[in-house]
Amino acid sequence: MRRLHWFQNDLRLADNPALASARSADSLLCVYLLPRPRPWCNLTGLGPQRDRFLRETLQELKTELQQLGQELMVLEGSPELVLPSVVERFGIEYVTTSFTAGWYESQGVAFLQEKLPVPLEVFRGNTLFNIEQLPFAMEELPNTFSPFRRKVEKQAIERPLSAPEALPPPPAAQFDAIPRAAASPHPGLPLPGGSKAGLRRLNQFLFQHHGIVDYKQTRNDLDGLAGSSTLSPWLANGAVSVRTIAHDIFRYEREHTANDSTYWLYFELLWREFFHWRAVADGAALFRQSGRHSKRLLTTFEPRHFARWCAGDTDYPLVNALMRQLVATGWMSNRGRQIAASCLINELGLDWRYGAAFFEQQLIDYDVGSNYGNWQYIAGVGSDPRGGRHFNLEKQAAQFDPDAVFTAKWEGFRAAQPHYVVDGADWPITEPR
Ligand SMILES: Cc1cc2nc3c(=O)[nH]c(=O)nc-3n(C[C@H](O)[C@H](O)[C@H](O)COP(=O)(O)OP(=O)(O)OC[C@H]3O[C@@H](n4cnc5c(N)ncnc54)[C@H](O)[C@@H]3O)c2cc1C
Repeated sequence: MRRLHWFQNDLRLADNPALASARSADSLLCVYLLPRPRPWCNLTGLGPQRDRFLRETLQELKTELQQLGQELMVLEGSPELVLPSVVERFGIEYVTTSFTAGWYESQGVAFLQEKLPVPLEVFRGNTLFNIEQLPFAMEELPNTFSPFRRKVEKQAIERPLSAPEALPPPPAAQFDAIPRAAASPHPGLPLPGGSKAGLRRLNQFLFQHHGIVDYKQTRNDLDGLAGSSTLSPWLANGAVSVRTIAHDIFRYEREHTANDSTYWLYFELLWREFFHWRAVADGAALFRQSGRHSKRLLTTFEPRHFARWCAGDTDYPLVNALMRQLVATGWMSNRGRQIAASCLINELGLDWRYGAAFFEQQLIDYDVGSNYGNWQYIAGVGSDPRGGRHFNLEKQAAQFDPDAVFTAKWEGFRAAQPHYVVDGADWPITEPR
């Protein structure tokens, strides 16, 4: 049988059930589809660091596949348009992919399952539990995190699968080199793409630096690689599987110590899991301003406020530093994301979805469920039982950056900006400050 595996957020060989099941095929065509750049549309497409991290990951995956006599074909365009023609061109008889959350992604898969002349099988994706292992039906998925956690946290997590030692050969085809990204990793936070770097970071954080032992106290550190695990980029595109991380945490607890902090890292993986399944259950509501609630938000779109927030040019030095860190490195800490999101929603009065879209473009760890779920949470239209968060920015700066070292490092102290530069009729104005 001629098989095609469409890689999505499962960019690894190990713990990839779809690849593990490909052994018996006569040939296997591995394909990844890059989104087509849309330069006319400001908030779509991949920011420079996200693009870089993805290309590095793909390059490593290609090399690893080549070591098994395989290949990776990287094409551009939407799955609905590209995959049917690839299936036809190579006489493919069976297509596999991994499960991804997200409304648009699942609509695309459903469309292909209808349209393709051959079966498309969806394998378990990047989650701790399969949908069948969840102790409730999707319609009964808890609305908030705590009841979800209590129901799933004692469930056994299957052991990750090892990488296949052999794969069927690719069909005769042209496999072009993957063009290199324009950006390079930022020296202030060098996070290289690919499974090897992700597994290295996992080993470093747990077994070399023992960062997990006091993670609960250090996880709010604003710089990456400092207090929190900084594993999110590899988790998001699947270069490292979440089951591998969970089992390494359990191994650490067996071999070294188990305390509040070691549990807390697992607890955070459950947050990721919660937002994943909420994204599946919520469908298109994940992208509605009022989420799955009927609550109406009062917002006004002031383009200059949004532009200043994106550029790190607001009246709030810590927010500026965070936004500059995000654009320069593609990463921001959880505390930083909460502060920056609260500023956009509460101080600038903007629709949270603009902030979420900017994060989607820039974050190297962009994950549909975690990103939109967390934004909804802060905006008060998601899973926050308290109905949203408004952070006091001065207090946050005093608590998490008391000596302004982080703010200075990422150049958050900016010259004061005029709030408005044009009047209602678009005439340039100078605003007295
Ligand atoms: C507005 C906003 C947007 C966010 N967007 C994303 C996103 O696009 N992708 C993403 O992976 N995370 C997102 N998060 C969650 C969180 O900020 C990051 O997962 C975390 O900062 C990554 O750093 P780390 O790997 O060092 O996390 P650690 O603290 O070391 O946690 C370990 C892992 O647990 C998971 N995790 C931790 N906190 C959360 C959380 N609040 N929600 C879901 N999962 C969590 C992540 O997979 C993380 O890698 C967002 C949070 C906010 C407030």
